[in-house]
Amino acid sequence: MKSTPIYLLDDEPELVALLADVAAAEGLSPRGYTAAARLFEDVSAFEPGAILVLDLHMPDMDGIEVMRRLAELKDSPALILVSGTHSGVLHAAQTLGEEHRLEILAALKKPVAVNEFRGLLRAYADTGGKGRWAAGCEVGSGLTLAELDRAILEDQLVLYFQPQCAIADARVTGAEALVRWRHPHQGLVLPDGFVPLAERNGRIGSLTHWVIGQVVRQHRAWRDAGLETCLSVNISASDITSLTLPEQLAALLADNRLDPNGLVLELTETALMGELVTSLDILTRMRLKGLGLSIDDFGTGYSSLSQLHRAPFSELKIDRSFVAHMIEDPEARSIVKTCILLGHELDMRVVAEGVEDRATWDLLAELGCDLAQGYFIARPMPAEAFPTWVEGWGL
Ligand code: C2E
Ligand code: MG
Ligand code: MG
Repeated sequence: MKSTPIYLLDDEPELVALLADVAAAEGLSPRGYTAAARLFEDVSAFEPGAILVLDLHMPDMDGIEVMRRLAELKDSPALILVSGTHSGVLHAAQTLGEEHRLEILAALKKPVAVNEFRGLLRAYADTGGKGRWAAGCEVGSGLTLAELDRAILEDQLVLYFQPQCAIADARVTGAEALVRWRHPHQGLVLPDGFVPLAERNGRIGSLTHWVIGQVVRQHRAWRDAGLETCLSVNISASDITSLTLPEQLAALLADNRLDPNGLVLELTETALMGELVTSLDILTRMRLKGLGLSIDDFGTGYSSLSQLHRAPFSELKIDRSFVAHMIEDPEARSIVKTCILLGHELDMRVVAEGVEDRATWDLLAELGCDLAQGYFIARPMPAEAFPTWVEGWGL
């Protein structure tokens, strides 16, 4: 069998030689270059599954320019970025590569740790060299709009609930409702596999309507059973275009004798980008009626501080990409810290999502974060499991 080619592009010949040795020992075919121009002269098409180790800082053509050229090719190699510069630069380059739809296996800081590099090559070999984009495309594939319509009508959708806890005393304060699709052939499909389909095809309104109806019913049932929790639901951009939505929601809650304070609507920064005047009108009236409003995945979108200031949010949810790395990554930690300060300055409750371990919980407590949500507390669970979980919960 032909072995996987790995191209090594770095202006330091010693590093090229060292990494080539490691790659060869792993059964790959290394090809070293110290200048980008030479690489592009030699290679006009990369073999499927090829890897390129790319130094960002090189005198002739820098790594950013190389990525731009790779993005134009039909088959681009999977990339391992290396750089001796500030880790912020490395991170920005990684994001840029992903924007170009290049597959970035890792971003390594120099001096490159040989063990880490070897581990990466092994992990890549384990995926059969197919990489992440290939895997990502398979999610929810083959799901059709007709099936989705049927799913909404025939109650194939189901809500899972993920608890949220106050960090100060570990009390359960509420849960976020997360939709799943019990597909007759594909099993349980996660929202990333069908929510975008619904959003692209004008079905999100009926999906949200279904979700809110279920949440309100569940809320009533739990209240009746003596379980006092807040519930959060996710809504999309086009949900905040109907001017009568606040009235409809208020009426639904009143019919079910529920306090609007117990329902939080989560929307992402990107959802706010559309018709700002209409959405501000709707969001403001929702808050006036007492509903909670949360800005979800905060830090990943493009909202400006003035937008945040104008929209009447009561809660800020820090995106899990920052929270999950705050222990080992000082920049992620600074972002989390700043979000907590910002949220509190603007009089918002701050929730950290993606809390996966005790160390993260403890650090969030130290930083004064209000609520936590994540696998450390519990994974999303079916409604039936929630009351028992609450009974058994303790830190
Ligand atoms: P989200 O609102 O940010 O929800 C949090 C996601 O993070 C959930 O994924 C949850 O399972 C996952 N998560 C929670 N804790 C952890 C953790 O500690 N580690 C990791 N790695 N992940 C964690 P899920 O359920 O797959 O939902 C994905 C997204 O789909 C949601 O992100 C939300 O934007 C969207 N979504 C879910 N339900 C609905 C819905 O009813 N309507 C709409 N429009 N969107 C929904
Ligand atoms: Mg959410
Ligand atoms: Mg989120």
